[in-house]
Amino acid sequence: MQYNYHTHTARCNHAQGEEREYIERAIENGLKVLGFSDHAPYAFPNTDYRSHYRMDDGELFDYAETVRALAKEYERDIRILCGFELEYYPKYHAEEMAFLAQVRPDYLIMGQHFIGNETDGKPIFLQSDDRDLTAYVTQVLEGLSTGDFLYLAHPDIPGFRFSKAATDREYRRLCEGAKALSIPLEINLLGIRSKRHYPDERFFAIAAEVGNEIMLGCDSHSPASVGEPSSEKIAREMVKKLGLKLIEQPFL
Ligand SMILES: [Zn+2]
Ligand SMILES: [Zn+2]
Repeated sequence: MQYNYHTHTARCNHAQGEEREYIERAIENGLKVLGFSDHAPYAFPNTDYRSHYRMDDGELFDYAETVRALAKEYERDIRILCGFELEYYPKYHAEEMAFLAQVRPDYLIMGQHFIGNETDGKPIFLQSDDRDLTAYVTQVLEGLSTGDFLYLAHPDIPGFRFSKAATDREYRRLCEGAKALSIPLEINLLGIRSKRHYPDERFFAIAAEVGNEIMLGCDSHSPASVGEPSSEKIAREMVKKLGLKLIEQPFL
């Protein structure tokens, strides 16, 4: 693969390894672009809530400075970008964007794990009520329509525990909405490596019908998974089988 825009660092408390090891592995595996997109720090003003799966607010500058120093050091071998994976939380989004703007991120990807706000909502991947799937799709499309996001990571994270009618309707609405906004959808390679419930072929069959642009994302939480060929191969088999429009070239 030529690019990967979905890469974490140890700051999020559930990834391992030095940034340098991620970069060296990307070069070994022939990537032209490696984007770091660690779980963005989120301040959640006026609440005591603290998120455990993202970097602390105080690590914002260290993250950006570390990645940019390495980008310079490795510029002859690979293009390194500094981004974030971010949820769209309506109540906090404007402040969050201003907070992140302090380090001028190269891009954001949306990885929506909650419906509502993280402080008062619920994890979407544990729900089975049709109304929760509808809420997820509505929230994702509202977030994507801000224009703040490069692509949608693991779009099918809610899974297939909802009624068939709601699943067909809502996933089609998600694919059509993303297409209208020209926002690609990710086949998540972490899901393949870890045998998670996503990526699901049933979701991507809908994306194929709608004609969405598709990207591959390693969602690396360890250096060994950057550009890892066996999960890429499985993803490519799905691309071929379903006739998906895969973006091959880096575009950032
Ligand atoms: Zn993570
Ligand atoms: Zn991720």
